[in-house]
Amino acid sequence: MTATIALFDIDGTLINSGGAGRRAMDQALRELGCSGAAFSMAGMTDRAIARRALQEGGCPDSDAAINAVLDRYLAVLRGTLGAQVRVLAGVTQLIQQLRLCSQLRLGLGTGNVAAGAQLKLATTGLWPFFDFGGFGCDAELRAPLLRVAAERGALQAGLPLAACRVLVVGDTVHDIAAARANDFECLAVASGGSSRDSLAQHQPQLLVDSLEDPRALQWLTATAQIGG
Ligand SMILES: [Mg+2]
Repeated sequence: MTATIALFDIDGTLINSGGAGRRAMDQALRELGCSGAAFSMAGMTDRAIARRALQEGGCPDSDAAINAVLDRYLAVLRGTLGAQVRVLAGVTQLIQQLRLCSQLRLGLGTGNVAAGAQLKLATTGLWPFFDFGGFGCDAELRAPLLRVAAERGALQAGLPLAACRVLVVGDTVHDIAAARANDFECLAVASGGSSRDSLAQHQPQLLVDSLEDPRALQWLTATAQIGG
C-alpha cells in the first residue's frame, strides 16, 4: 500500500475568511506607510504579497520591511478574525473521512505564514486535524513550500519522499502549477480564487466544484484504505 501525503491549501479551499486576511494585510501596509495591495492575493504566499505591495507602493522591500508588515498583519488578524470565517462545503466531512485512513498523512500546503494559518483554522476547529505543513514562512514561492510540506509528511510516515504519493488540494492555478513543478498531483476545487475554466486550462488531475463531490474522497484515497 502506497503512503499518501495530502496537502491542503487554506483560503478558498478549506475556508473563506470573509476578506479578513486581505483587510488585515491592507491595514498593516497602511500603518507602515504604504498604500494597500491593489491586486488579487489568491494563491500568493504572505511574503510574496507583502513584497509586491511594498514594491508597488514605492516602499523598500527588504526582509526587515516584509517581516514588519507580517508582524503587524498577524496582530491585526488576531484582533479581527471572528465569526466571518466559514468552513467551505464538504470540507469537515472529507477531513473526517481522511483521518480514518492510516496510510494517509494529512497536512497543509499554504501561502499563509504558520501563525496566520493557525489563527484562521483555529476559529473553525480544523487546526488540530493537520499534523504538519509547509507555510508562507518556509518559502516565498509556492512550489518550494509544497516541497517542504511533503518532506515533513514523509518524515512522519517514516518513508523517503520518493516512496509517497503526494496530492495537493487547492483553489487556484498557482496550486496546480506548484504541484506540477514538484511532480505532485493536484485536485483543484473551484470554490475560491480561480474560475472553473482557468483551473481546467491548467489541467489538474481532478477538478471539482466543491469538496462535497464524492470523487474528491475517492481520488484522495485511491491508494489508501479507509480504516486500513
Ligand atoms: Mg487558496
